[in-house]
Amino acid sequence: MSRSKVEGAEDLVEALAKEVDGTRINIPFEVDVDGNSSDEGEEAVDGEGGDGGEKSKKKKKKKKKSKSKKTPVIKPNQGRIPEEIPPPPPESPEATSKWDKEIVKGTKTYNLPAWGLLDDRARPILNIFRTPSCKKIELITPRLRLRQCEVGDLTGVRRIKMEPIVQKTQLYGSPSISDIKDSFLNRYIRSRDEYIFAITALNPSQLKVQDPGHVRISNRISNGEGYLGNIALSLTYPSASPSFLPTKGKIYTQPTFERTHNAKLEGKLFYEIHPQLWGQGIMSEAFEEVLRFGMEEVGCDSIASDPTTGNEASIHLCTKNGLTFSHTTNNMYNKPQLFHRITKEEWWKRNRPDKGVEDRWGGKEVCRWCMNFRLAPPTIQCKYCQWAKYCSRECQKADWVRNGGHQSECDLEEAP
Ligand SMILES: [Zn+2]
Ligand SMILES: [Zn+2]
Repeated sequence: MSRSKVEGAEDLVEALAKEVDGTRINIPFEVDVDGNSSDEGEEAVDGEGGDGGEKSKKKKKKKKKSKSKKTPVIKPNQGRIPEEIPPPPPESPEATSKWDKEIVKGTKTYNLPAWGLLDDRARPILNIFRTPSCKKIELITPRLRLRQCEVGDLTGVRRIKMEPIVQKTQLYGSPSISDIKDSFLNRYIRSRDEYIFAITALNPSQLKVQDPGHVRISNRISNGEGYLGNIALSLTYPSASPSFLPTKGKIYTQPTFERTHNAKLEGKLFYEIHPQLWGQGIMSEAFEEVLRFGMEEVGCDSIASDPTTGNEASIHLCTKNGLTFSHTTNNMYNKPQLFHRITKEEWWKRNRPDKGVEDRWGGKEVCRWCMNFRLAPPTIQCKYCQWAKYCSRECQKADWVRNGGHQSECDLEEAP
């Protein structure tokens, strides 16, 4: 996927036109709908990110003086890999027979429509595909809960994407509302080749919502509740590399670091946050944790970010976290991007100096639908084949009723 976005092919239109079936989309393009990493989290203000003028400069100075920890001392990442989530209790015989009746040959399958996903008609289908385990992946930092996006986040997404102050720092420019709606659902709700986290506050009153200044009235926020921004880790690898998605006839396992290394798996970070929350290190906190997640849990071989020229805040975020500048790329928006990257070795050395690289999840059996590797190994198995395993019935059903899903690949015929 990297190919497209590096060149700036991340055109919104292209993204939306991308084929969309029920789920397992290898979204090379849509990945970038919300474009380049830019955000500026805090620092846009703090760092000068282009806008803000006088006011932000003053702020910046003040901050620099009072912050003695801005010295280039490397503080190892404090994030931790959580305990594995235990398996669900055994199923009751009643539940088993109920599910067995739903998961039979000939069950109707669904595609999610590429357009109009917000229609009430599509909602129940979306709910089948987004299982409880799909929604479960989240990251916790001292002040934040990075959770999966929900349909209800759309208003929050719009407030940021429609805001000119934010748009200046992003590649995508000024999308229309309907573009946002559709790309939101395509990417945020259903993508499987990237992790997109909604940024929310653990304690909303703890965050300082700044005066709106020039933020458009319709885009203003008055508190730190709900969706505040997002940060995505998009997985890319050369097209010649084998896919990491579940394949027919094989029990799905979490890719080992060895495999991700051979495949040159690279994560790319994209992020943005509401401008009234800039200047308090929120994005910095999220960035650090998603970087850790990508390295320590997903097993990326490298992670990159390519802020647009002049987005000092975002550039600072990169360098602060050990991503070093490698080259400038161009795109159709005529906003050169500064490509920054950190390798697996560099990250581990910086952040886990006392221990070598440890592959916590690699090689374990994982649900072939949600692919949530933090869950205990799957306990539900397809009764027609030996290799389709799931963490839950919801995941099994999702895979069964997806057009082109397990119902079409299962060894069903050979079953008694
Ligand atoms: Zn699952
Ligand atoms: Zn099967």
